[in-house]
Amino acid sequence: MNPLAPFVDLLAPRDCLGCEAPSDQPGALLCRACTVEQPLLPRSFAAPSPLAWAMGLGPYQGPLGALVRTGKYRPDPRVFDQLARWMQIAFRDRLPRADAVVAVPVPARRRLRRGFDQGQLLAHALAGALNLPLLPALTRARAAEQAGRFGRARSAGARGSFRARGVLPPRLILVDDVCTTGATASACGDELLAHGARSVGFVCVAAAAL
Ligand SMILES: [Zn+2]
Repeated sequence: MNPLAPFVDLLAPRDCLGCEAPSDQPGALLCRACTVEQPLLPRSFAAPSPLAWAMGLGPYQGPLGALVRTGKYRPDPRVFDQLARWMQIAFRDRLPRADAVVAVPVPARRRLRRGFDQGQLLAHALAGALNLPLLPALTRARAAEQAGRFGRARSAGARGSFRARGVLPPRLILVDDVCTTGATASACGDELLAHGARSVGFVCVAAAAL
């Protein structure tokens, strides 16, 4: 059975959210072609320094990346409910041991505009599946707008954007919806390691490096 099958009937979009073609699976998030491209297996990619390891579900350039963008820019939290379930299935029992989960926080302005924080949603679901605490260990230091920046400017913008707080256990799993340049994950990893964590792994839905 296709692992996506139990979760395809909640959103009922008319078009595939991955490729925007008319849906050939009534009630499904993705069309058949996009669905078979999603094996829902955790896949490793080159961890942005200083992270210990990095895993995602699929390429940012593929249907999963399109799903994330649809969820963010529409915006529609139900997309992230679905992605969270897929993460639970894919990553349960398949990640290195850890002590706690931490979400990459979205800028407060975006959270207010969207009405939800997708990183928090995904991290909460993953923490539940792994039976680990979700720590509110990171905050935004300033409202650096990441989405409109590229390359070097974006890298510089990410550094110093996050602040760690609280007492951190040694092994953390950092969660975000996507990983494009890796600058955000790196900046979060730097901050967590500077505040007592000894190892930070990273999990996302879609990564440009996959
Ligand atoms: Zn499609």
